[in-house]
Amino acid sequence: MALLELFNLSKRYDQHTIALSDINISVNKGEFIAVIGPSGAGKSTLLRCINRMIEPTNGEVTFDGVDLLHVKRKELRRLRTKIGMIFQHYHLVNRLTVIENVLHGRLGYKSSVVGALGIYTKKEKEQAIQLLRMLGLADQMYKRSDKLSGGQKQRVGIARALIQDPKMLLCDEPIASLDPNASKIIMDYLQKISQSLGITVIVNLHQVDVALQYSDRIIGVSQGQIVYDGTPTDITQEQ
Ligand code: ADP
Ligand code: ADP
Repeated sequence: MALLELFNLSKRYDQHTIALSDINISVNKGEFIAVIGPSGAGKSTLLRCINRMIEPTNGEVTFDGVDLLHVKRKELRRLRTKIGMIFQHYHLVNRLTVIENVLHGRLGYKSSVVGALGIYTKKEKEQAIQLLRMLGLADQMYKRSDKLSGGQKQRVGIARALIQDPKMLLCDEPIASLDPNASKIIMDYLQKISQSLGITVIVNLHQVDVALQYSDRIIGVSQGQIVYDGTPTDITQEQ
């Protein structure tokens, strides 16, 4: 069974802006997918419609067998924890430390009061430390997150997503603000996470060379439509 299925997914922002039209995609567990396309193609809208950060106008999203567009709010909250989100601009809370930002990823599980007070169990703290070690940030844990470099911030973003024990990561231009060296580090971590933890990864990229190097499937989007869906090898042979 597919982990994620999009059926005739469409998003219209206003009369003149149809960001997605009739998108059909089926994603299996463990796939590493790069979504490529020019700026304004609809890549970001596509990822955000999957977890309903943006409400789709039409269509269906099925995740792990559940119809995401028709679940109750509480169930949506639970399912969203299974879909980690990584952003271009990291979306960290600047005044918090690195480890506090990672623990923030647990908020989806807590009542707002417990979350707002920053109360976490010993086990959760140990989990956060372990993830930060895995991502090479052991010596940065108690720094304020705004003291980090972009590449380090993105690794905090990844740890914050992983602490939810997700089945899938949606990464919206995760390396667009990073230099080539930091970009490689982030892509290597995403690859390692996909391979060793079996987590499905969907990553928006505008660098085609990076997409070709890391993904096992490429989805090309242009003007809100899928113009290519296949292997990196086939895309190079088409030219
Ligand atoms: P990409 O990620 O490929 O750059 P986007 O999904 O951000 O593309 O944008 C797709 C289209 O939708 C663009 O024409 C963009 O201007 C438009 N768009 C995106 N977000 C909004 C919004 N919140 N309101 C109106 N139009 C939007
Ligand atoms: P980030 O990666 O930090 O989330 P983005 O630059 O991708 O930031 O987008 C910032 C916000 O602007 C998003 O919520 C997006 O939906 C919105 N946006 C993008 N294009 C448009 C547009 N044409 N009109 C209105 N809002 C837009």
